[in-house]
Amino acid sequence: MKKRHVQTIRTKQKQTEQHIQQNRCPKCGGVLIVRKGKYGTFKGCSNYPKCKFTQSIG
Ligand SMILES: [Zn+2]
Repeated sequence: MKKRHVQTIRTKQKQTEQHIQQNRCPKCGGVLIVRKGKYGTFKGCSNYPKCKFTQSIG
């Protein structure tokens, strides 16, 4: 049961990565925009502040 749970999380992470590669927000399906913040460059959802998804790209 524990193993199954880990697999589910991994699948979800893969889907999230695929979404981000396609510049799609995995939370709401919106477009991800490259933004520059205090702590570096990151991708943020175009539906911000409605959707607060961000992904650091270093
Ligand atoms: Zn979003």
